[in-house]
Amino acid sequence: MSCEQASPLLSAYFDRELDVAKSLEIEGHLRECERCTAVVKQHEALHDALSAPSLVFAPPRDLEWRLRKAVRREAKPRSLFVLQPWRWAALPVAAMLAAALSWSVAVNRGGPSADDLMLAELVSGHVRSLMVDHAVDIATSDQHTVKPWFNGKVDFAPPVADFKANGFPLVGGRVDYIGGRPAAVLVYKRNQHFVNVFIWPAGKEESQALRNATYQGYHLLRWSGSGLTFWAVSDVNSADMESLARLFQEVG
Ligand SMILES: [Zn+2]
Repeated sequence: MSCEQASPLLSAYFDRELDVAKSLEIEGHLRECERCTAVVKQHEALHDALSAPSLVFAPPRDLEWRLRKAVRREAKPRSLFVLQPWRWAALPVAAMLAAALSWSVAVNRGGPSADDLMLAELVSGHVRSLMVDHAVDIATSDQHTVKPWFNGKVDFAPPVADFKANGFPLVGGRVDYIGGRPAAVLVYKRNQHFVNVFIWPAGKEESQALRNATYQGYHLLRWSGSGLTFWAVSDVNSADMESLARLFQEVG
């Protein structure tokens, strides 16, 4: 075998890709040819260099943990409360409900106004809290427990009071999102019905004209005090809603 014949086969020989007959021919040639032997030695040296441990990338031990954490952070809902497993199941229904409410507003009025959208969001928040059978994130009638619970969850201090003596026992509180901002929600019971009271800092852009409304069969009542806007939503009658508003205004 000549160098011209051996040369193109050296790489395949080194990688053990040749049949036995060809390998033996190359070996015979290498015994008498220094130049081809040098080429094979270069292959060996390159192979060894590429196998060096310093070239093998080993991911840091906590990489998986960090990736999972990053994915969780990205997937986190805007809401501040922690979604529990059963709430995931309720989300599509709630989303459909919100979409249906917005759609019916759009169809009936030829384009939803800002007030309509807010009423839809409030009713949606109220209905959602009933659907998942878990109206509150903190369940207690103790106002001294609920008030500090809001610290760090909303950037204002909602007035928290139990009106049990007046027929509106406090059930608890949660944080919801209305109009893209966090709202403190106090949940009261009136006989067997729930009343959600949404609270957020009063804004200049808010319509002051809208004081009460009936939406999708629910009563909504707005009042304000101490720089806060309050919206109560429930299926209890309007007189009861007014009573609750007065109780709030007395303590506020
Ligand atoms: Zn040769």
